[in-house]
Amino acid sequence: MIRIYQAVSLTVAAFALLWTVIFLIDGHWLIAAVEFFPVIAGLVCFALVTSGRLDLFLIVAQSSFLVFIIGFSLMFDVPQNGAPRVTHLFLPVLGMLAYLNYLRRPSRLQLALIACSLVTFVVLHAADLRLPFAQPVPPELHAIGVWLNPTMAALVFCGTIYALQQRLSAPRGIARDLMAALRQGQLTLVYQPQTDRDGHVLGGEALLRWNHPTRGPVPPATFIPAAEEMGLMPIVGTFVLEQALSTLTRWKDDPRLSTLTLSVNVSASQFNEADFETTLRDLLQRHEIDPTRLRLELTESVLIAGLEPVAEKMTALKALGLTFSLDDFGTGFSSLAYLRRLPVSELKIDRSFVAAGAENERDAALVRSIRAIAVDLGLETVAEGVETQAQLAFLETIGCRIFQGYLFGRPMPLEEFEQAVLAPKPRPVASPERPSPRLAAG
Ligand code: C2E
Ligand code: MG
Ligand code: MG
Repeated sequence: MIRIYQAVSLTVAAFALLWTVIFLIDGHWLIAAVEFFPVIAGLVCFALVTSGRLDLFLIVAQSSFLVFIIGFSLMFDVPQNGAPRVTHLFLPVLGMLAYLNYLRRPSRLQLALIACSLVTFVVLHAADLRLPFAQPVPPELHAIGVWLNPTMAALVFCGTIYALQQRLSAPRGIARDLMAALRQGQLTLVYQPQTDRDGHVLGGEALLRWNHPTRGPVPPATFIPAAEEMGLMPIVGTFVLEQALSTLTRWKDDPRLSTLTLSVNVSASQFNEADFETTLRDLLQRHEIDPTRLRLELTESVLIAGLEPVAEKMTALKALGLTFSLDDFGTGFSSLAYLRRLPVSELKIDRSFVAAGAENERDAALVRSIRAIAVDLGLETVAEGVETQAQLAFLETIGCRIFQGYLFGRPMPLEEFEQAVLAPKPRPVASPERPSPRLAAG
Protein backbone atom coordinates (compact mmCIF):
# COMPACT_ATOMS: atom_id res chain seq x y z
CA MET A 1 0.00 0.00 0.00
CA ILE A 2 2.84 2.40 0.84
CA ARG A 3 4.28 1.89 -2.64
CA ILE A 4 0.87 2.47 -4.21
CA TYR A 5 0.44 5.71 -2.22
CA GLN A 6 3.92 6.86 -3.23
CA ALA A 7 3.22 6.10 -6.89
CA VAL A 8 -0.15 7.91 -6.81
CA SER A 9 1.41 11.00 -5.13
CA LEU A 10 4.18 11.24 -7.71
CA THR A 11 1.86 10.57 -10.65
CA VAL A 12 -0.52 13.31 -9.53
CA ALA A 13 2.40 15.74 -9.02
CA ALA A 14 3.80 14.89 -12.48
CA PHE A 15 0.39 15.22 -14.14
CA ALA A 16 -0.20 18.61 -12.48
CA LEU A 17 3.28 19.72 -13.50
CA LEU A 18 2.50 18.81 -17.10
CA TRP A 19 -0.58 21.04 -16.98
CA THR A 20 1.38 23.84 -15.28
CA VAL A 21 3.88 23.79 -18.12
CA ILE A 22 1.13 23.70 -20.77
CA PHE A 23 -0.57 26.74 -19.21
CA LEU A 24 2.75 28.55 -18.87
CA ILE A 25 3.65 27.96 -22.51
CA ASP A 26 0.24 29.28 -23.48
CA GLY A 27 0.82 32.37 -21.30
CA HIS A 28 -1.90 31.74 -18.70
CA TRP A 29 0.00 32.69 -15.55
CA LEU A 30 -2.88 32.61 -13.09
CA ILE A 31 -4.09 29.13 -14.09
CA ALA A 32 -0.50 27.88 -14.16
CA ALA A 33 0.06 29.19 -10.61
CA VAL A 34 -3.10 27.47 -9.36
CA GLU A 35 -2.21 24.28 -11.22
CA PHE A 36 1.12 24.30 -9.40
CA PHE A 37 -0.71 23.74 -6.09
CA PRO A 38 -1.29 19.98 -6.70
CA VAL A 39 2.37 19.65 -7.71
CA ILE A 40 3.38 20.86 -4.24
CA ALA A 41 0.60 18.84 -2.57
CA GLY A 42 1.71 15.69 -4.43
CA LEU A 43 5.32 16.15 -3.33
CA VAL A 44 4.33 16.89 0.28
CA CYS A 45 2.18 13.74 0.23
CA PHE A 46 5.08 11.71 -1.16
CA ALA A 47 7.34 13.00 1.64
CA LEU A 48 4.72 12.26 4.30
CA VAL A 49 4.06 8.72 3.14
CA THR A 50 7.78 8.01 2.74
CA SER A 51 8.48 9.18 6.28
CA GLY A 52 5.79 6.82 7.55
CA ARG A 53 3.29 9.50 8.63
CA LEU A 54 0.43 7.68 6.99
CA ASP A 55 -2.47 9.21 8.92
CA LEU A 56 -1.31 12.77 8.24
CA PHE A 57 -0.66 11.85 4.59
CA LEU A 58 -4.21 10.60 4.11
CA ILE A 59 -5.80 13.70 5.59
CA VAL A 60 -3.54 16.10 3.66
CA ALA A 61 -3.94 14.17 0.40
CA GLN A 62 -7.70 13.85 0.53
CA SER A 63 -8.57 17.31 1.78
CA SER A 64 -6.11 19.21 -0.42
CA PHE A 65 -7.19 17.42 -3.61
CA LEU A 66 -10.85 17.76 -2.76
CA VAL A 67 -10.46 21.52 -2.26
CA PHE A 68 -8.33 21.84 -5.39
CA ILE A 69 -10.71 19.88 -7.64
CA ILE A 70 -13.78 21.80 -6.45
CA GLY A 71 -12.03 25.18 -6.67
CA PHE A 72 -10.54 24.50 -10.11
CA SER A 73 -13.87 23.19 -11.45
CA LEU A 74 -15.74 26.32 -10.32
CA MET A 75 -13.09 28.84 -11.33
CA PHE A 76 -11.42 27.56 -14.50
CA ASP A 77 -12.80 24.27 -15.72
CA VAL A 78 -16.33 25.34 -16.55
CA PRO A 79 -18.46 23.76 -19.34
CA GLN A 80 -17.96 25.61 -22.60
CA ASN A 81 -19.01 25.30 -26.26
CA GLY A 82 -20.96 22.13 -25.51
CA ALA A 83 -17.89 20.44 -23.98
CA PRO A 84 -18.28 19.25 -20.37
CA ARG A 85 -15.93 20.08 -17.54
CA VAL A 86 -13.40 17.32 -16.78
CA THR A 87 -11.52 18.02 -13.54
CA HIS A 88 -14.43 16.75 -11.45
CA LEU A 89 -13.93 13.27 -12.97
CA PHE A 90 -11.26 12.71 -10.32
CA LEU A 91 -13.85 13.03 -7.55
CA PRO A 92 -15.26 9.44 -7.70
CA VAL A 93 -11.67 8.17 -7.68
CA LEU A 94 -11.01 10.31 -4.62
CA GLY A 95 -14.14 8.80 -3.05
CA MET A 96 -12.82 5.30 -3.73
CA LEU A 97 -9.46 6.14 -2.22
CA ALA A 98 -11.31 7.45 0.82
CA TYR A 99 -13.16 4.11 1.00
CA LEU A 100 -9.83 2.25 0.90
CA ASN A 101 -8.67 4.37 3.79
CA TYR A 102 -11.95 3.82 5.57
CA LEU A 103 -11.31 0.06 5.39
CA ARG A 104 -7.93 0.65 6.95
CA ARG A 105 -9.24 2.83 9.77
CA PRO A 106 -12.99 3.52 9.88
CA SER A 107 -13.84 7.05 10.95
CA ARG A 108 -16.61 9.61 10.49
CA LEU A 109 -14.14 11.92 8.78
CA GLN A 110 -13.49 9.28 6.11
CA LEU A 111 -17.23 8.74 5.63
CA ALA A 112 -17.70 12.51 5.29
CA LEU A 113 -14.92 12.65 2.68
CA ILE A 114 -16.52 9.81 0.69
CA ALA A 115 -19.91 11.53 0.80
CA CYS A 116 -18.43 14.92 -0.07
CA SER A 117 -16.51 13.50 -3.06
CA LEU A 118 -19.58 11.77 -4.49
CA VAL A 119 -22.06 14.60 -3.90
CA THR A 120 -19.77 17.26 -5.37
CA PHE A 121 -19.12 14.98 -8.37
CA VAL A 122 -22.85 14.72 -9.10
CA VAL A 123 -23.45 18.46 -8.57
CA LEU A 124 -20.47 19.59 -10.65
CA HIS A 125 -21.43 17.17 -13.41
CA ALA A 126 -25.12 18.02 -13.54
CA ALA A 127 -25.10 21.78 -12.97
CA ASP A 128 -23.28 24.54 -14.77
CA LEU A 129 -21.98 25.99 -11.53
CA ARG A 130 -19.23 28.58 -11.80
CA LEU A 131 -17.90 31.45 -9.72
CA PRO A 132 -19.04 34.93 -10.84
CA PHE A 133 -15.42 35.85 -11.60
CA ALA A 134 -14.60 32.51 -13.28
CA GLN A 135 -11.89 32.54 -15.96
CA PRO A 136 -12.58 29.62 -18.28
CA VAL A 137 -9.62 27.63 -19.57
CA PRO A 138 -8.91 28.67 -23.21
CA PRO A 139 -10.97 26.48 -25.59
CA GLU A 140 -7.93 24.96 -27.34
CA LEU A 141 -6.54 23.74 -23.99
CA HIS A 142 -9.97 22.66 -22.79
CA ALA A 143 -10.19 20.47 -25.90
CA ILE A 144 -6.98 18.70 -24.83
CA GLY A 145 -8.23 18.37 -21.24
CA VAL A 146 -11.44 16.73 -22.42
CA TRP A 147 -9.29 13.77 -23.53
CA LEU A 148 -6.37 13.92 -21.13
CA ASN A 149 -8.22 14.22 -17.81
CA PRO A 150 -10.73 11.37 -18.31
CA THR A 151 -7.85 9.15 -19.52
CA MET A 152 -5.88 9.97 -16.38
CA ALA A 153 -8.92 9.54 -14.12
CA ALA A 154 -9.61 6.13 -15.74
CA LEU A 155 -6.01 5.03 -15.12
CA VAL A 156 -6.10 6.11 -11.46
CA PHE A 157 -9.47 4.38 -11.21
CA CYS A 158 -7.90 1.11 -12.44
CA GLY A 159 -5.06 1.52 -9.93
CA THR A 160 -7.54 2.06 -7.12
CA ILE A 161 -9.56 -1.02 -8.11
CA TYR A 162 -6.33 -3.03 -8.07
CA ALA A 163 -5.41 -1.68 -4.60
CA LEU A 164 -8.92 -2.43 -3.35
CA GLN A 165 -8.76 -5.97 -4.67
CA GLN A 166 -5.36 -6.47 -3.01
CA ARG A 167 -6.71 -5.08 0.23
CA LEU A 168 -9.80 -7.29 0.22
CA SER A 169 -8.17 -10.52 -0.90
CA ALA A 170 -5.01 -10.27 1.23
CA PRO A 171 -6.49 -11.80 4.40
CA ARG A 172 -8.08 -14.59 2.37
CA GLY A 173 -4.74 -15.35 0.71
CA ILE A 174 -2.92 -15.37 4.04
CA ALA A 175 -5.68 -17.45 5.61
CA ARG A 176 -5.45 -20.09 2.87
CA ASP A 177 -1.66 -20.25 3.24
CA LEU A 178 -2.02 -20.37 6.99
CA MET A 179 -4.23 -23.47 6.89
CA ALA A 180 -1.65 -25.15 4.64
CA ALA A 181 1.07 -23.98 7.04
CA LEU A 182 -0.74 -25.67 9.94
CA ARG A 183 -0.93 -28.94 8.00
CA GLN A 184 2.66 -28.76 6.81
CA GLY A 185 4.18 -27.94 10.19
CA GLN A 186 5.38 -24.44 9.25
CA LEU A 187 3.98 -23.04 12.50
CA THR A 188 6.11 -23.33 15.60
CA LEU A 189 6.29 -21.83 19.05
CA VAL A 190 9.21 -19.90 20.41
CA TYR A 191 9.62 -19.13 24.08
CA GLN A 192 10.62 -15.86 25.67
CA PRO A 193 11.88 -15.98 29.25
CA GLN A 194 10.20 -14.11 32.07
CA THR A 195 12.80 -13.58 34.73
CA ASP A 196 13.60 -11.94 38.02
CA ARG A 197 16.07 -9.04 38.19
CA ASP A 198 19.02 -11.44 38.25
CA GLY A 199 17.89 -13.22 35.12
CA HIS A 200 16.60 -16.38 36.82
CA VAL A 201 13.87 -17.74 34.61
CA LEU A 202 10.50 -17.92 36.36
CA GLY A 203 8.49 -18.79 33.30
CA GLY A 204 8.08 -18.09 29.62
CA GLU A 205 5.69 -16.75 27.05
CA ALA A 206 4.93 -18.95 24.07
CA LEU A 207 4.89 -16.91 20.86
CA LEU A 208 3.76 -18.21 17.52
CA ARG A 209 6.09 -18.17 14.51
CA TRP A 210 5.34 -18.88 10.88
CA ASN A 211 8.25 -19.86 8.73
CA HIS A 212 6.96 -19.64 5.19
CA PRO A 213 8.99 -21.82 2.76
CA THR A 214 9.28 -19.09 0.11
CA ARG A 215 8.36 -15.83 1.88
CA GLY A 216 10.51 -16.53 4.96
CA PRO A 217 9.31 -15.62 8.45
CA VAL A 218 5.88 -13.98 8.44
CA PRO A 219 5.45 -11.67 11.47
CA PRO A 220 2.56 -12.45 13.85
CA ALA A 221 1.44 -8.84 13.41
CA THR A 222 0.59 -9.79 9.80
CA PHE A 223 -0.89 -13.24 10.02
CA ILE A 224 -2.69 -13.06 13.37
CA PRO A 225 -4.98 -10.16 12.36
CA ALA A 226 -5.62 -11.95 9.02
CA ALA A 227 -6.45 -15.20 10.81
CA GLU A 228 -8.66 -13.20 13.18
CA GLU A 229 -10.49 -11.58 10.24
CA MET A 230 -11.07 -14.92 8.51
CA GLY A 231 -12.27 -16.60 11.72
CA LEU A 232 -9.28 -18.95 11.93
CA MET A 233 -7.97 -17.94 15.33
CA PRO A 234 -9.85 -20.69 17.20
CA ILE A 235 -8.06 -23.33 15.06
CA VAL A 236 -4.68 -21.62 15.24
CA GLY A 237 -5.14 -20.96 18.97
CA THR A 238 -5.99 -24.59 19.66
CA PHE A 239 -2.78 -25.59 17.89
CA VAL A 240 -0.86 -23.17 20.15
CA LEU A 241 -2.53 -24.58 23.27
CA GLU A 242 -1.76 -28.16 22.16
CA GLN A 243 1.89 -27.29 21.67
CA ALA A 244 2.11 -25.40 24.95
CA LEU A 245 0.57 -28.30 26.87
CA SER A 246 2.99 -30.74 25.22
CA THR A 247 5.80 -28.50 26.44
CA LEU A 248 4.42 -28.47 29.98
CA THR A 249 4.14 -32.29 29.80
CA ARG A 250 7.78 -32.43 28.73
CA TRP A 251 8.75 -30.25 31.73
CA LYS A 252 6.56 -32.08 34.21
CA ASP A 253 9.16 -34.50 35.57
CA ASP A 254 12.13 -32.18 35.73
CA PRO A 255 12.28 -30.42 39.11
CA ARG A 256 13.83 -27.28 37.61
CA LEU A 257 11.43 -27.03 34.67
CA SER A 258 8.25 -28.17 36.37
CA THR A 259 8.01 -25.01 38.47
CA LEU A 260 7.93 -22.72 35.41
CA THR A 261 4.76 -20.96 34.33
CA LEU A 262 4.00 -20.98 30.62
CA SER A 263 1.98 -18.03 29.28
CA VAL A 264 -0.03 -18.47 26.12
CA ASN A 265 -1.73 -15.68 24.16
CA VAL A 266 -5.41 -16.28 23.64
CA SER A 267 -7.12 -14.04 21.12
CA ALA A 268 -10.53 -12.52 21.79
CA SER A 269 -12.27 -14.57 19.09
CA GLN A 270 -10.75 -17.78 20.44
CA PHE A 271 -11.68 -17.03 24.03
CA ASN A 272 -15.21 -16.02 23.10
CA GLU A 273 -15.90 -19.23 21.13
CA ALA A 274 -18.75 -21.13 22.76
CA ASP A 275 -16.67 -24.31 23.15
CA PHE A 276 -13.42 -22.71 24.36
CA GLU A 277 -13.93 -24.00 27.89
CA THR A 278 -14.68 -27.55 26.69
CA THR A 279 -11.66 -27.52 24.38
CA LEU A 280 -9.42 -26.49 27.26
CA ARG A 281 -10.90 -29.09 29.60
CA ASP A 282 -10.28 -31.81 27.00
CA LEU A 283 -6.75 -30.65 26.40
CA LEU A 284 -5.97 -30.54 30.11
CA GLN A 285 -7.40 -34.02 30.61
CA ARG A 286 -5.36 -35.39 27.75
CA HIS A 287 -2.11 -33.87 28.90
CA GLU A 288 -2.40 -34.42 32.66
CA ILE A 289 -0.34 -31.40 33.60
CA ASP A 290 -0.58 -29.13 36.60
CA PRO A 291 -3.06 -26.50 35.30
CA THR A 292 -1.60 -23.80 37.54
CA ARG A 293 1.49 -23.84 35.29
CA LEU A 294 -0.56 -22.63 32.32
CA ARG A 295 -1.32 -18.91 32.15
CA LEU A 296 -3.68 -17.48 29.59
CA GLU A 297 -2.81 -14.01 28.34
CA LEU A 298 -5.86 -12.02 27.34
CA THR A 299 -6.11 -8.49 26.06
CA GLU A 300 -8.91 -6.06 26.79
CA SER A 301 -10.34 -6.78 23.33
CA VAL A 302 -11.83 -9.94 24.86
CA LEU A 303 -14.41 -7.70 26.55
CA ILE A 304 -16.15 -7.21 23.23
CA ALA A 305 -18.34 -10.09 24.34
CA GLY A 306 -19.40 -8.14 27.46
CA LEU A 307 -17.93 -7.99 30.94
CA GLU A 308 -20.29 -10.47 32.60
CA PRO A 309 -20.01 -13.42 30.17
CA VAL A 310 -16.23 -12.99 30.04
CA ALA A 311 -15.96 -12.82 33.82
CA GLU A 312 -18.09 -15.97 34.12
CA LYS A 313 -16.01 -17.92 31.66
CA MET A 314 -12.78 -16.82 33.31
CA THR A 315 -14.10 -17.82 36.71
CA ALA A 316 -15.03 -21.28 35.39
CA LEU A 317 -11.58 -21.71 33.88
CA LYS A 318 -9.93 -20.44 37.03
CA ALA A 319 -11.76 -23.19 38.90
CA LEU A 320 -9.83 -25.66 36.73
CA GLY A 321 -6.64 -24.16 38.13
CA LEU A 322 -5.69 -21.90 35.20
CA THR A 323 -4.45 -18.38 35.80
CA PHE A 324 -4.94 -15.23 33.73
CA SER A 325 -2.76 -12.37 32.72
CA LEU A 326 -3.91 -9.09 31.16
CA ASP A 327 -1.62 -8.45 28.20
CA ASP A 328 -0.57 -5.04 26.85
CA PHE A 329 -2.05 -3.40 29.92
CA GLY A 330 -2.43 0.35 29.60
CA THR A 331 -2.93 0.43 25.82
CA GLY A 332 -6.72 0.06 25.85
CA PHE A 333 -9.39 1.47 28.11
CA SER A 334 -7.86 -0.13 31.19
CA SER A 335 -10.97 0.53 33.20
CA LEU A 336 -10.69 -0.14 36.90
CA ALA A 337 -14.25 -1.47 36.96
CA TYR A 338 -13.39 -4.52 34.90
CA LEU A 339 -10.13 -5.11 36.74
CA ARG A 340 -12.18 -5.49 39.89
CA ARG A 341 -14.52 -7.94 38.22
CA LEU A 342 -12.16 -10.17 36.21
CA PRO A 343 -10.24 -12.93 38.03
CA VAL A 344 -6.80 -12.04 36.66
CA SER A 345 -3.65 -12.66 38.64
CA GLU A 346 -1.20 -10.62 36.61
CA LEU A 347 -0.90 -7.40 34.60
CA LYS A 348 1.60 -7.15 31.79
CA ILE A 349 2.77 -3.57 31.50
CA ASP A 350 2.94 -2.84 27.79
CA ARG A 351 6.37 -2.26 26.33
CA SER A 352 5.48 1.24 25.13
CA PHE A 353 5.05 2.25 28.79
CA VAL A 354 8.23 0.51 29.83
CA ALA A 355 10.19 2.44 27.20
CA ALA A 356 8.49 5.79 27.84
CA GLY A 357 8.47 5.36 31.63
CA ALA A 358 12.26 5.32 31.69
CA GLU A 359 12.38 8.41 29.47
CA ASN A 360 9.98 10.97 30.92
CA GLU A 361 8.31 11.81 34.20
CA ARG A 362 4.73 11.76 32.87
CA ASP A 363 4.93 8.17 31.64
CA ALA A 364 6.93 7.18 34.70
CA ALA A 365 4.00 8.40 36.81
CA LEU A 366 1.64 6.31 34.70
CA VAL A 367 3.69 3.13 35.11
CA ARG A 368 3.94 3.84 38.82
CA SER A 369 0.13 4.05 39.06
CA ILE A 370 -0.30 0.80 37.10
CA ARG A 371 2.04 -0.85 39.57
CA ALA A 372 0.17 0.72 42.53
CA ILE A 373 -3.17 -0.52 41.19
CA ALA A 374 -1.72 -4.01 40.79
CA VAL A 375 -0.37 -3.98 44.34
CA ASP A 376 -3.70 -2.77 45.73
CA LEU A 377 -5.58 -5.50 43.90
CA GLY A 378 -3.03 -8.15 44.86
CA LEU A 379 -1.89 -8.71 41.28
CA GLU A 380 1.59 -9.51 40.02
CA THR A 381 3.10 -7.32 37.30
CA VAL A 382 5.29 -8.38 34.40
CA ALA A 383 7.11 -5.59 32.59
CA GLU A 384 7.16 -6.31 28.87
CA GLY A 385 9.82 -5.33 26.36
CA VAL A 386 12.61 -4.49 28.82
CA GLU A 387 15.55 -3.66 26.60
CA THR A 388 17.98 -1.57 28.64
CA GLN A 389 19.54 -1.44 32.09
CA ALA A 390 17.99 2.00 32.49
CA GLN A 391 14.49 0.61 31.97
CA LEU A 392 15.27 -2.22 34.37
CA ALA A 393 16.54 0.22 36.98
CA PHE A 394 13.44 2.36 36.66
CA LEU A 395 11.13 -0.68 36.91
CA GLU A 396 12.96 -1.87 40.00
CA THR A 397 12.50 1.49 41.71
CA ILE A 398 8.74 1.13 41.37
CA GLY A 399 8.74 -2.44 42.67
CA CYS A 400 8.46 -4.58 39.52
CA ARG A 401 9.90 -8.00 40.03
CA ILE A 402 9.23 -9.93 36.87
CA PHE A 403 10.69 -8.87 33.53
CA GLN A 404 10.40 -9.95 29.95
CA GLY A 405 12.38 -8.41 27.13
CA TYR A 406 15.41 -8.53 24.92
CA LEU A 407 17.63 -7.55 27.87
CA PHE A 408 16.90 -10.94 29.40
CA GLY A 409 16.34 -12.99 26.28
CA ARG A 410 14.67 -12.92 22.90
CA PRO A 411 11.99 -15.43 21.95
CA MET A 412 13.92 -18.68 21.26
CA PRO A 413 13.34 -22.31 20.29
CA LEU A 414 12.29 -24.66 23.08
CA GLU A 415 15.66 -26.40 23.49
CA GLU A 416 17.47 -23.09 23.81
CA PHE A 417 14.91 -21.88 26.34
CA GLU A 418 15.39 -25.01 28.42
CA GLN A 419 19.15 -24.47 28.29
CA ALA A 420 18.64 -20.91 29.57
CA VAL A 421 16.73 -22.34 32.53
CA LEU A 422 19.08 -25.19 33.28
CA ALA A 423 22.34 -23.29 32.72
CA PRO A 424 21.48 -19.67 33.55
CA LYS A 425 23.78 -16.88 32.42
CA PRO A 426 24.76 -14.03 34.78
CA ARG A 427 22.59 -10.92 35.04
CA PRO A 428 22.45 -9.20 31.64
CA VAL A 429 24.36 -6.05 30.84
CA ALA A 430 22.61 -3.24 28.99
CA SER A 431 23.38 -2.67 25.34
CA PRO A 432 25.80 0.31 25.26
CA GLU A 433 24.24 2.04 22.25
CA ARG A 434 21.11 2.97 24.20
CA PRO A 435 21.10 6.47 25.73
CA SER A 436 20.90 6.43 29.48
CA PRO A 437 17.56 7.96 30.44
CA ARG A 438 17.69 10.54 33.21
CA LEU A 439 14.99 8.99 35.34
CA ALA A 440 16.80 5.76 35.86
CA ALA A 441 19.90 7.60 36.87
CA GLY A 442 18.06 9.58 39.47
P1 C2E B 1 2.52 -9.89 22.93
O1 C2E B 1 1.72 -11.00 23.48
O2 C2E B 1 2.46 -8.57 23.63
O3 C2E B 1 3.99 -10.43 22.82
C1 C2E B 1 5.11 -9.69 23.08
C2 C2E B 1 5.75 -9.25 21.82
O4 C2E B 1 6.80 -8.37 22.13
C3 C2E B 1 6.40 -10.38 21.04
O5 C2E B 1 6.31 -10.05 19.67
C4 C2E B 1 7.84 -10.31 21.46
O6 C2E B 1 8.73 -10.87 20.54
C5 C2E B 1 8.01 -8.82 21.56
N1 C2E B 1 9.09 -8.45 22.49
C6 C2E B 1 9.43 -9.06 23.61
N2 C2E B 1 10.44 -8.43 24.21
C7 C2E B 1 10.73 -7.35 23.46
C8 C2E B 1 11.69 -6.29 23.58
O7 C2E B 1 12.48 -6.21 24.50
N3 C2E B 1 11.66 -5.35 22.62
C9 C2E B 1 10.81 -5.39 21.57
N4 C2E B 1 10.86 -4.43 20.66
N5 C2E B 1 9.89 -6.39 21.42
C10 C2E B 1 9.85 -7.35 22.37
P2 C2E B 1 5.78 -11.09 18.61
O8 C2E B 1 6.29 -12.44 18.92
O9 C2E B 1 6.08 -10.47 17.28
O10 C2E B 1 4.25 -11.12 18.86
C11 C2E B 1 3.46 -10.01 18.62
C12 C2E B 1 2.06 -10.24 19.11
O11 C2E B 1 1.43 -11.26 18.35
C13 C2E B 1 2.01 -10.71 20.54
O12 C2E B 1 2.13 -9.61 21.39
C14 C2E B 1 0.64 -11.33 20.58
O13 C2E B 1 -0.35 -10.34 20.74
C15 C2E B 1 0.50 -11.91 19.20
N6 C2E B 1 0.80 -13.35 19.28
C16 C2E B 1 1.98 -14.00 19.20
N7 C2E B 1 1.81 -15.32 19.33
C17 C2E B 1 0.46 -15.52 19.51
C18 C2E B 1 -0.37 -16.67 19.70
O14 C2E B 1 0.08 -17.80 19.79
N8 C2E B 1 -1.73 -16.44 19.84
C19 C2E B 1 -2.27 -15.19 19.80
N9 C2E B 1 -3.58 -15.06 19.94
N10 C2E B 1 -1.51 -14.10 19.63
C20 C2E B 1 -0.16 -14.26 19.48
MG1 MG C 1 1.43 -11.75 25.20
MG1 MG D 1 2.07 -7.81 25.27
